[in-house]
Amino acid sequence: MWYSKSREEVVRELGSDPASGLSAEEARSRREKYGRNQLKGKPKKSLAVLFFSQLKDMLIYVLLGAAVVTLIVGEYMDAVIILAVVLLNAAIGVFQEQKAEKAIEALQQMTTPKSLVRRDAEVREIDSVDIVPGDIVILDAGRYIPADLRLIESANLQIEESALTGESVPSDKKAEDIHQDPKTPVGDRSNMAFMSTLVTYGRGEGIAVGTAMDTEMGKIAQALDVDDQKLTPLQKKLEELGKTLGYIAIGVCVLIFVIGLIQGRDLFELFLTAISLAVAAIPEGLPAIVAIVLSLGVTRMSKIHAIVKKLPAVETLGSVNIICSDKTGTLTQNKMTVVKNYVLSESEQGAGEDPPVEMIKAFVLCSDATYENGEGTGDPTEVALVRYGEENGLSKKSMDAEYKRVSERPFDSDRKLMSTLNRTPDGFRVHTKGAIDQIMEISTTAVVNHEVVPLTEELKAQYLQAAEQMSDDALRVLAAAYKNTASQISPEEMESDLTFLGFVGMIDPPRIEVKDSIREAKMAGITPIMITGDHKNTAVAIAKELEIASSLEQSMTGAEIDELSDEEFSTKIRDMRVFARVSPEHKVKIVKAFRAQGNIVSMTGDGVNDAPSLKNADIGVAMGITGTDVSKGASDMILTDDNFTTIVHAIREGRNIYANIRKTVTFLLSCNFGEVVAILASILFFWPLPLLATQILWINLVTDTLPAIALGVDPGEKDVMKKKPRNPKESFFAGGAAFQAVLGGVLIGSLTLLAFYLGLREFGYGLRDSNISEEAMTYARTMSFVVLAASQLFYAFTKRSATKSIFQVGVFSNKFLVFAVIAGLVLQYISISVPFLAAAFKVQNLSLPDWGLVIGLALIPLFLNEIIKVFLRMKKTSEA
Ligand code: ATP
Repeated sequence: MWYSKSREEVVRELGSDPASGLSAEEARSRREKYGRNQLKGKPKKSLAVLFFSQLKDMLIYVLLGAAVVTLIVGEYMDAVIILAVVLLNAAIGVFQEQKAEKAIEALQQMTTPKSLVRRDAEVREIDSVDIVPGDIVILDAGRYIPADLRLIESANLQIEESALTGESVPSDKKAEDIHQDPKTPVGDRSNMAFMSTLVTYGRGEGIAVGTAMDTEMGKIAQALDVDDQKLTPLQKKLEELGKTLGYIAIGVCVLIFVIGLIQGRDLFELFLTAISLAVAAIPEGLPAIVAIVLSLGVTRMSKIHAIVKKLPAVETLGSVNIICSDKTGTLTQNKMTVVKNYVLSESEQGAGEDPPVEMIKAFVLCSDATYENGEGTGDPTEVALVRYGEENGLSKKSMDAEYKRVSERPFDSDRKLMSTLNRTPDGFRVHTKGAIDQIMEISTTAVVNHEVVPLTEELKAQYLQAAEQMSDDALRVLAAAYKNTASQISPEEMESDLTFLGFVGMIDPPRIEVKDSIREAKMAGITPIMITGDHKNTAVAIAKELEIASSLEQSMTGAEIDELSDEEFSTKIRDMRVFARVSPEHKVKIVKAFRAQGNIVSMTGDGVNDAPSLKNADIGVAMGITGTDVSKGASDMILTDDNFTTIVHAIREGRNIYANIRKTVTFLLSCNFGEVVAILASILFFWPLPLLATQILWINLVTDTLPAIALGVDPGEKDVMKKKPRNPKESFFAGGAAFQAVLGGVLIGSLTLLAFYLGLREFGYGLRDSNISEEAMTYARTMSFVVLAASQLFYAFTKRSATKSIFQVGVFSNKFLVFAVIAGLVLQYISISVPFLAAAFKVQNLSLPDWGLVIGLALIPLFLNEIIKVFLRMKKTSEA
């Protein structure tokens, strides 16, 4: 039992060393012995299971029924074609599903949790799956615990163990505790930290005692379900649409069957017609295409540093009209440098030729960052301070050795303070650093000319005025204070009765590319909002530089928010662009207020306490580099470069993906509708069938796959970011999309019928003739067969934009579509010219003039749609 042994015993037994950790070689050999540190997931669906799940589909049942009937009546070739189509469809389905799944899996891989471990005497960040028993793991607030650990060090460590015990109040952890009772329940083992629980406060170190399934988590989670990706709202809507259309189609089929019977038509032919219609009308490709377009889209987004964790986020992105962004690191470079200091001492005032030694010492000792050989690790604010110390001859290493840290109160963004207790030759000293207003509040004295004097109101005013000046210059101000104590005190007693030392000003330059992105966002009808824990003046100074705000009136502090009621705040928020000195609770308020006004809000976050605001936002955005595991867990999207610009790029991609799904879906519906029109009209008007079921199946294979996917990966229109955000309540078919889809369908269907009629006329028949020769029928059907396929293929080009002409969009700007259309035409040519295939589909080869005619006819829907666009463009300019 690890919890009943002392730390030294545990370390010895596991053959490790807290100071240097395992060697890389030892870690490797243990990795081989113990395997990946990962709970076993549900076994993956096998190819066969995937394949058979494709067959559970209404259309497939219809087709299998048709195959049986064709077999019974002896039309063996038809049966073979139908079965081949069923198999091919299933194979394509499996391929698409796998591709979509792989894309999502790859994204999940990118967000696998990482851990800090000590190996070869160095702290490194490694994938949590590579942790082995004996590894020394370093814990800090916001991190998930990667394995079962016996704690060997703890500083105010608190861990939330609800994943394991159901208890959501964090438990205090103490490395020095030992529990002799072998029946100590998991929740009471205060010297242990368990896999998948979360550090909410403090720091600590532990040695891995159990990994993978050999953990408490592993015991209860024998087979964890791998997070199943749920359908997005749009996918659900489309799936319902598909189902409805499917049922309507089957209803119509039955009706036609009955009408046909009354008309006294041939039973077998009627049956085939009904089947053809069902095949034509059921939009079987819809859900698969949308899934693949979404997954290809998120893969593209991951390449521009935005990892979408939840697919619905892609749709929501297109509607975002408010981006709330943290300042530090997202809008700025997070490369802090101390450039000014301020202490009240004759020799030290101002830029400080003489370094203010006591203040720098306090800053250095009260920091967790390191700076060695020109490289810093840790919080950039602290790195700047430690570097500042180094530059002034006060190195972190020697300071730490001289004044050993015995206790601490970690930084949190609510208090905006951090304190440490260090041993001094005469006792102990508290060092506190943080926001100047906060430090001022807990200080009663100050150092002036090397003497401790009462911190009077005048003195405070003097300090604050100087600090204000630094803030106006966009500097981040950080103050330091101290107090001596004779004995060791508890962390709660540290932050009171302090002596104020002075403060420094640091620059953190804005990211260069952000200014352009802010302009782009504004042009796209999106308002960027800055949210920061920093001082108001510092924040506004940077906001002005970035063109987020133009005056101090557009900013508000957390304290000012607290004074307002929710309603008052919601009305006031409209004019605000900068929120300063806010804590994570304020972020929730800000999100709620913006949303109450009907906005679609994206909010960034990185800290332990940011999870609520991320969850409340429409799009919660976590930082990939500086973000805690908690914030990543609560987010919808992760920025792997922590950059504001990436949010804007992701919104652009999101808009494009949505537009592409619209293009694909309306294209597919037009195609299907065209087929329905052709079949239905011929039934209603007592004409012979212009197309056979097998022919329709073939055309759907040619058009529903490659061209549809090609539209789904369309490079997108250049001016997507010049439009207002999409209203999320707006129908998928808004802006005349439904009308265009129906019109496209009517055109495609009518032209197919026209081609059929022209074909019959070649042989001197009319549509109403009853004794049409086999030869004439084959020829006429070939004409309609080719026109239907080709018109759909050409139509794909015009679908690339709802208003722009194909030349404005660029005929060759989507090379994949060009390829898909050419491939489709070649396949069509093969199907009628290879004798074996031609016989199977009951079609024949066409002469050159015939080809001229069918291509001419097939181009008409494209032309007419282009003419409609001219009118739409004219309407738009006259409106503008
Ligand atoms: P943003 O929200 O834009 O990331 P931020 O980094 O300024 O802004 P916080 O990290 O919450 O926000 O910091 C808020 C304030 O707390 C800072 O302005 C500073 O005064 C103080 N502060 C920041 N880091 C530390 C630290 N390591 N120790 C002590 N005080 C700190």
